[in-house]
Amino acid sequence: MSVALTDLVATSTAVGRERGRLKKRATLASFLRPLPPQELVLAVSYLSGALPQGKLGVGPALIREISEVEGAPHASLSLVQVNDRLDDFHRIAGGGSATRRRSELGGLFALATLEEQRFLSRLLLGEIRQGALEGVMVEAIALAYDLPTEAVHRAIMISGNLSAVAEAAATQGVSGLAAFALTIFTPLRPMLASPANDVAGTLEALGSALLEYKMDGARVQVHRDGERVRVYTRALNDVTESLPDIVRQVRSLPLRRVILDGECLALRADGRPQPFQVTMRRFGRRRDAAALQDTHPLSAFYFDCLYLDDAALIDEPMSVRAEALSALVSTAGMTPRLVTDDPADASRFFAAACGAGHEGLMAKRLDSRYLAGSRGADWLKLKSAHALDLVVLAAEWGSGRRLGWLSNLHLGARDPAGEGFVMLGKTFKGMTDRLLAWQTDALLTRRVSEVDGVVYVRPELVVEIVFNDIQASSQYGGGFALRFARVKRYREDKSAAEADTLDTVRALFQAAHNAPVDAA
Ligand code: AMP
Repeated sequence: MSVALTDLVATSTAVGRERGRLKKRATLASFLRPLPPQELVLAVSYLSGALPQGKLGVGPALIREISEVEGAPHASLSLVQVNDRLDDFHRIAGGGSATRRRSELGGLFALATLEEQRFLSRLLLGEIRQGALEGVMVEAIALAYDLPTEAVHRAIMISGNLSAVAEAAATQGVSGLAAFALTIFTPLRPMLASPANDVAGTLEALGSALLEYKMDGARVQVHRDGERVRVYTRALNDVTESLPDIVRQVRSLPLRRVILDGECLALRADGRPQPFQVTMRRFGRRRDAAALQDTHPLSAFYFDCLYLDDAALIDEPMSVRAEALSALVSTAGMTPRLVTDDPADASRFFAAACGAGHEGLMAKRLDSRYLAGSRGADWLKLKSAHALDLVVLAAEWGSGRRLGWLSNLHLGARDPAGEGFVMLGKTFKGMTDRLLAWQTDALLTRRVSEVDGVVYVRPELVVEIVFNDIQASSQYGGGFALRFARVKRYREDKSAAEADTLDTVRALFQAAHNAPVDAA
C-alpha cells in the first residue's frame, strides 16, 4: 500500500481546522489505523512536525527560491517517495552542495501540488508545532490500536519518540509499549512544575512536601556509566562538549551507573547566582562556551535521581528518589531542601531562597512518581516575583532612540478553551539594546502582517514577563490586564504551547485580590 502525501496533507489540514480535541483525535486515528509500519512511522513524524532525518538546515531563503518552482497539476507523491528524496537531500555534502541542495529540493517541489508544497515548506522550516499536537497524537495512537492512553503516554515519555512508539503500538500492542524502558544515554523528558500562588495553599494541596530552592539556571540531565558521561538539556540536546566542568564534577563522584536531574548555574564569587543570561552563555556557540569555562564555571545542583545501578527509579516515590540522591551527592551538590508541613517553616525557607538570590521554591509531593514531560500538580513552583511566560502576538515599531526597532510588545496568555491567545497587555520595558536588536530580527522572521506600525507575528515566541499586579479590566478580551509589566527574558527553551494560560492568570488574580473573579 502506498500512502499518498495528499491524504496526509488533507488530514493535517482537517486536524488544524477542527476545534474539539475529540474530533482531532478521531481524524488522526482513522488516518493512522490502516497504515503499514513504514508509512506509519513517516506519517506520525510528518503530522507532528518532525523529520526522520532530523534537522535538514533548510532556511526561509532556500524555501523562497524553490517555492517559485511551479506545482504539479495532480497529486502523485507517496510518503515513501518524499522520504527517499529527503534522504538524498540529507546526504548532499562537499563542494557545490548549495546548488545541489537547491536542485534536489526543487525536484521534489516540482512533483508536489501547491498545497503539498505549502505543507512541505512548513515541515522543512519546523513550523508545524509539535507541542500542542503531541497530546492529541498520543490519544490518537491509543484510539487507533485500542490501547490504554496511559501506556502510550508512558512509552513516549521514556523514549521521546512518537514514531517509534506508534510503530510498537501498531505491531506489538501493549507488550511493545511496555518494552520501552529507561536506559542510560537515552535522555527522557524532564518533569515540569505548575505555578502555585502561595506557601500556605501549596502545603494545603500537597500535605507534607519536599521543598527545594528554585534556582534560575539551565536544566541538566546527567547520564553516567563508569567513566562515560553525557549531559542533556531540557530539550534533550547533548551539550556534553560545552560543559567539561560538569562532566569532571560528575566523574569525581563515587558512582557507577546513574541518571541525575538538576539545575546548573554560574555563581558569583560571593556564591549568589549570576543572572540567567550569564549561565546561558555557556550553552552558546562552542568556541565561546570553551572560552567562558574559566571565567564562568558552572555549578550543578541536583534534585532528583532517576536511575541507579541497574534500576530505573522513576516509578519510585519522590521521597525514595530524594533519599537515593542524598546518599550519592553531597549537600553542596544538591538544591537546598526541607521536608515540612508547617507553613511558618515553609515561609522562612521561601524567604531564605529569595534572600540568597534564587527565584523561589519548588514544592514536590512526597509520594509522586517522576512523570517525564508532564506539567502536573505534583510539582509546584512558587516564585518571588509575579511572573508569567507569555506569547508575543505583535509588536509596535519604536520611535526616538528606538527608531527602527520593534519595541512595544503585545502579550498574550494561552486560552485553555481554544487554541488561541488572549491579550493581557503591552510592554516596552526591561529591554536592553541587544535584546531589542534580537527581538526585532526574531519577530520579523515571524511577521504575518503590518497595520499602522503594528507588526503582527506568528504566536511562537515566549517571553517571561514580571509585573506588579493583575487588574480586572475590560480593555482586553480575557478580562485582565497586567500592571507595570516588564520583560525579564525570552524563554527560547519554551514553545507557545508551554506558555501560561488564562486560568493561571485568573488564579493569580484571585490569590492576590483574595476574591473570586466575578466579584471584582
Ligand atoms: P519554569 O521553567 O519556570 O517552568 O520552571 C521549571 C524549571 O525550574 C525546571 O525546568 C528547572 O530547570 C528549574 N528548577 C530550578 N530549581 C529546581 C528544582 N529544585 N526542582 C525542579 N526544577 C528546578
